[in-house]
Amino acid sequence: MYFCDRFTSFVALVTFGSQVVLAQRQTYWDLSPFNTPLDGADTSRSSFSEVSATGKNPVKRIAIIGAGAGGSSAAYFLNEYAKKNPIGPQLEIEVFEKSDRIGGRVYPRFFGQDHEKYEMGANAFIVDNYNLMNASRDFQIEKEANELGDSTLGLYDGNEFVALNDNSWSNQAAFYYRYSWGSFRANRFANSVKAQFLKLYDESLPPYRTVEEMLKRVDLLQYLFQTSRDVLINEWSAGPVYTDELFQAISRNIYASNSSLHSLAGAIALIAAQGSYTTVGGNDQFFQKYLEHSGATVHFNSPVTKIKRVPGDSDDLVWNRYILEAGGERISGTFDAVVLATPFHQSDIKVLNLDLDLEEVPYRTVYVAVIEDALVNPGFFHADAIPDVIFGFNSSESFTVIGHSPKTRRANIEAVEPISMEWLSKLFNSTLRSDQVTFQTWKAYPKMVVKESDAEEIFPPINLGPSFYYVNSVESAISCMEVEVMSGRNIARLVLDDLKA
Ligand SMILES: Cc1cc2nc3c(=O)[nH]c(=O)nc-3n(C[C@H](O)[C@H](O)[C@H](O)COP(=O)(O)OP(=O)(O)OC[C@H]3O[C@@H](n4cnc5c(N)ncnc54)[C@H](O)[C@@H]3O)c2cc1C
Repeated sequence: MYFCDRFTSFVALVTFGSQVVLAQRQTYWDLSPFNTPLDGADTSRSSFSEVSATGKNPVKRIAIIGAGAGGSSAAYFLNEYAKKNPIGPQLEIEVFEKSDRIGGRVYPRFFGQDHEKYEMGANAFIVDNYNLMNASRDFQIEKEANELGDSTLGLYDGNEFVALNDNSWSNQAAFYYRYSWGSFRANRFANSVKAQFLKLYDESLPPYRTVEEMLKRVDLLQYLFQTSRDVLINEWSAGPVYTDELFQAISRNIYASNSSLHSLAGAIALIAAQGSYTTVGGNDQFFQKYLEHSGATVHFNSPVTKIKRVPGDSDDLVWNRYILEAGGERISGTFDAVVLATPFHQSDIKVLNLDLDLEEVPYRTVYVAVIEDALVNPGFFHADAIPDVIFGFNSSESFTVIGHSPKTRRANIEAVEPISMEWLSKLFNSTLRSDQVTFQTWKAYPKMVVKESDAEEIFPPINLGPSFYYVNSVESAISCMEVEVMSGRNIARLVLDDLKA
């Protein structure tokens, strides 16, 4: 959301550690999405040229379910990799999307005559999100920094503002005094994680087959087994005041979670808070452009309801075929691969003829509202004046952030419980008309709970079956646009490698 990211830039002001990773940046900055050959792209060992020669199967048909960040990037990178290293048969990529738009949890809306953009879902990406940064460059998608500007902010605990960064020097000094040391320590932790994470962009490594493998490869798996609070206080000496207040405001803002979230997600939240970008015309442009350049056919209003493995195909084969049902109708023909790019347990898809026993990953529900033509009432906060951005934490109040502008008379709210008109009437001290409020509810991201280190399987598999892949298996480790794109891209490599096998 818009205002949250003013906050993120503010946090960058109390951040001293971020320079550490700046030096790292250049190493990967010049990575274009297409400048590295497919790992082991040895077309001579492709069995498909033989199959094609018989005229039996000259086309490989791939179904992608979901046109969000994960599905659109999978389509795009499949096409890009296959163009660069043709494997024999042509790829025919079809994307099935249940709604009438591209983007999924990325959903910009525009308000008023000034056409002000609010991202109802994902807003921020960082300079080290190379896929998104490259897409911004290659597709000329204009981006801008999320900046604090003149906005003021405060941390509200349900009774009072425990810290304010407003126009008063004494409040600012108190804010820095309260949090700067903890912030410094926490950002050193975040930067150490970021330096490891950036190694995942190295495409000389083969694609990963499990999320465990991906995280082990860059030494990040261990962070799933500890809470952020434990790591920040016990290992990085960030102190309880910082951790229970400012960090909590960050983790609630980014993952609607208190500081008990696992420490990899905590580090991601901190990294996002160091400074970020958004696009001028809406973040869904990334995924529209990916699809536009993928050569894929996109079927809108086509919810997939059944995926059935073709009888007779067995687990022993790397390659299986599938039959799909979408919008209540069987899609004619079969698919040589299926990429599921939406959380399985929310997809209402039945999988038949395949032994699939996926444990449900619980997601956080996040409630978003944009309110027009109204002013937030300072009395709600027992105050005479209030900052532009208010973070709720440790509080009986369920909002995680409220941003408002007296100038535009607009406000945005994010909360972990439903936002009722009754509560809004207290917040604005007036009864609002329904046309003044735009609501959006999301199953936003997994609850980033600490994982059991001895669990047999920590994440859902990437291969749900032979030639059946799952983009969102990564989400309970990290859920954000860039990582969904990385997952789609990794799966594109797996699909092509498996085709060649
Ligand atoms: C409020 C909020 C704030 C966020 N903030 C940020 C942020 O600032 N920065 C960031 O990087 N990330 C943020 N995220 C997380 C980010 O949005 C997600 O991690 C990412 O967009 C997920 O992409 P996806 O493609 O995997 O899934 P989705 O975006 O959920 O896409 C799945 C698609 O599949 C479709 N679908 C579902 N079922 C079916 C079916 N049966 N058949 C066909 N289609 C189907 C859906 O309609 C949807 O379009 C935020 C998320 C939320 C909700």
